[in-house]
Amino acid sequence: MERASFLKFVPSDMFHVKHPAFLFPLSSSPFPQFAIIHLMKKKLLLINPPIYDFAAYDLWLRPLGLLYIGAILKNAGLQTKLIDCLDRNHPEAPKNRSDNWGCGKFYSLEVPKPEVLKDVPRVWKRYGLPGEALKKEIEKARPFDAALVTSVMTYWYPGVFEVVRVLKSAEPGVPVLLGGNYATLCLDHAKANSGADHVLPGNSLKGLYGLLEDLGVLDKNSYRPGAFADFPAPAYDGYRNPGHAAIRMSYGCPFRCTYCASSYICGGEITLKDPEKVASEIDMLGRTGVKNIAFYDDALLYNPEGSIDEVLERVIKKKTDVFFHTPNGLNARFLSGKTARLMKQTGFVMPRISLETADSKKQAKTGGKVESGEFLTACGYLREAGYEKGEFAAYMMIGTPGQGFYEAEKSAWFAHEAGAKVSLSEYSPIPHTADWEKVQEQLPSDDPLWHNNSAYPLFSVGEWEKIREIKKLAVELNGRLKKKGGDKREREAGCFT
Ligand code: SF4
Repeated sequence: MERASFLKFVPSDMFHVKHPAFLFPLSSSPFPQFAIIHLMKKKLLLINPPIYDFAAYDLWLRPLGLLYIGAILKNAGLQTKLIDCLDRNHPEAPKNRSDNWGCGKFYSLEVPKPEVLKDVPRVWKRYGLPGEALKKEIEKARPFDAALVTSVMTYWYPGVFEVVRVLKSAEPGVPVLLGGNYATLCLDHAKANSGADHVLPGNSLKGLYGLLEDLGVLDKNSYRPGAFADFPAPAYDGYRNPGHAAIRMSYGCPFRCTYCASSYICGGEITLKDPEKVASEIDMLGRTGVKNIAFYDDALLYNPEGSIDEVLERVIKKKTDVFFHTPNGLNARFLSGKTARLMKQTGFVMPRISLETADSKKQAKTGGKVESGEFLTACGYLREAGYEKGEFAAYMMIGTPGQGFYEAEKSAWFAHEAGAKVSLSEYSPIPHTADWEKVQEQLPSDDPLWHNNSAYPLFSVGEWEKIREIKKLAVELNGRLKKKGGDKREREAGCFT
C-alpha cells in the first residue's frame, strides 16, 4: 500500500487522539512510525469572521495574517483547517458574481441594528458565509485542539463575537484565541467582551508560540520563524478556489501618519522578504489558477535596495500571468520611472497613489509622507510607462480632523488634473493614532462601533451634505476620465467591455 492511500483510511477524527496506540495498535499498522506521528498531530481551527456593517465589498479581502500563521503552524507539524467566512467561493456560500478583477459583493442579510447605531439611517447587515453554514463548518471540523480567530476593523467586532459564541457552543472546553487588529487596538474591549479565552495583541508571534506550547498544542522544538522575512508563503491551500489572493513583500512602515495605526500594529519598522522568495510565491499562486493578486504592503515601494523592481523582474522572467492590485496605496515619493515601467509590464491594474490631501501644510502636519510635487512626478512616470489618464487613481481622505471641505474639493481637482481617478475614503477614528487623541472626546461612547466611517458622529447634518457633494464631484470628475482601451491583456481578460 502506498503511503498516500494508507493515509486515506485514517479517519480525520483520529488526528485528535492523544493515545492512538489504544485505538490503533502499532503492530497492526503497516507503517507504524508514520501512524504515530500522524495520529498525534494536533489540530488548530483558523477562522476569519463575517462582517457586520452598513456596507462591505470584497476588494481582494483575504485574512493574510491568519494565512501566514496557518503556514507557519503547518510547517511546525500541526494540522490546520481554515474557515474563511469572507470567501465568496466557499461551497456553502450563496453565489455572487465577481467582476473582471475577482472582486464582488458578499452574500448579505439584513439584521437588527445595534442599539448604539439605531439613529443612523442606514441598513445594518451581516456579510459573508451564512450563520448556519458557519455552524456546519465548525461541526465538520470537530474535534480540534484550539481555535484561532482573527479580527480586522475595530468596528467589525460583532462578527468576531459571533464566531467565538459558535465555537464555545460547539466545543465548550476548547481554547479560543483571538488576534488581529481589533484585538490589538481595542485590547481591553476584546478581553472584557469577546468571550475568547486568550486575547493576543500585537504582531509578535512569540506570544502565540508560548501560549500554544502552554496549551500543549505546539511542540517546544518545532519550527518557528521570528521575522516576517523568514515566513513561509501564506497558506492558500486552505481554499478550494481562492480566486484572488493577497500577498506582502514587506511588513511595516517607517512613517507615522497621524491617522494611521500601522506603526502601533506593526512596530514601526519595515522588514522585507527576499525578492526571489516573493516572486516564487506569486508564481506558485499563478500556477494554481489565481488571476488577481493584491499587495497588502503598507509601504510597497519603500525598499532601499529596489526589492520591488527585483520581484517584478523575476515575475517577467518566470512568465507569471497574473494581474496586480494595490488596495493600500503606493507612496509617490518612491515610485521611480523604472518601477512604473515594470508595473505596467507585469499587469498592475489601476495603481493607486496615496495623496490624501493636496494641501501642503496638511501634508506636513499629518506625517509628511508625500508632497504634491512628488505626486505629480509619480503621475508623470505612470503616464510615460503607458498608463493613460484615468488608468491610475489617487487616494484621498475626507473628514480628517481639522480638514475643511474646500481643501477636499481642491485636492480632488488637483488629482483629476494630473490624470488620476479620485478615490475617496471617509476618515475613521482609530485608537492609538495621533488623531485619535483629537477626536475620541467627541464620540458618544467608547464602543468601537463608533469607529465606523459610515456612522461616527463627528459631522453635523450640513457637513454630511457637503461630504455627499464631494463624492458627487469625484464621480463626475472620474466620468470625464472614462477609460477607452486598456492594453491587450486587459482587453482579453474582458476588463473594459
Ligand atoms: S505611509 Fe501609509 S502605512 Fe505608513 S503610516 Fe502613513 S498611512 Fe500608514
